[in-house]
Amino acid sequence: MSENIMLFYCKTCQRASKDAKKHPKKYEYKCPHCKGDRVVFGTEKAICDFFRIKETMLARMLSDAPNPEKK
Ligand SMILES: [Zn+2]
Repeated sequence: MSENIMLFYCKTCQRASKDAKKHPKKYEYKCPHCKGDRVVFGTEKAICDFFRIKETMLARMLSDAPNPEKK
């Protein structure tokens, strides 16, 4: 668990990601999976503490490729 790594967490997908897209004009982020904007940004530790994500769960979220059948 790291204090320094910044993560995005999509409340719609309930997934963490390292590479959400920042809106070019507004100060908001888009989820790379669902394109939604219910995305929060914080340190890995803050996100995991707040959403009660276990380290093993987080590792799975970050390594999971998006399911191509779901789109
Ligand atoms: Zn999402």
